[in-house]
Amino acid sequence: MGMRSHIVPSMDPRRQSRKAPPAARRTSAQEALGRTTRQRSALLDIIAREGRPLSPYELHDLAVRVIPSMSRSTVYRNLRALEDARQIHAVSIPGQAPRYELARAAASHHHHFHCQRCDRVYELEGCPGGLKGLLPRGFTLEDHTIVLTGKCGACVG
Ligand SMILES: [Zn+2]
Ligand SMILES: [Zn+2]
Repeated sequence: MGMRSHIVPSMDPRRQSRKAPPAARRTSAQEALGRTTRQRSALLDIIAREGRPLSPYELHDLAVRVIPSMSRSTVYRNLRALEDARQIHAVSIPGQAPRYELARAAASHHHHFHCQRCDRVYELEGCPGGLKGLLPRGFTLEDHTIVLTGKCGACVG
């Protein structure tokens, strides 16, 4: 009788201590979420600061200055997630690694310049238009991409 009443109250602290590990796991899950959020906002900040579309290699080189532990695969994983969340947009340049620009930049129609010396890609404002005139009769134009190539100001100077 005395033993049973001793066991029953001791159940509570034990149950509480059993609840402790899930609480700890939740904390580490929150830490992981916090880390992911920091990584993604660092990548977005870098793209915004550089003001031009960046390759995963360029992003990694710049990201490790902010978060030294960020690996190249972490950069790739976060870029995929940011692209899925439509926060960034992939710019494809023939024969090149994709470059990433902010979705808000991608929202306004523009084109790109690829420097063949330093491999940087720059955003060009506006569009020459008038491209329908290039089409053979009976064709319809649905979209277009224009990539100008040459040497950027830094490479010419
Ligand atoms: Zn250049
Ligand atoms: Zn255009």
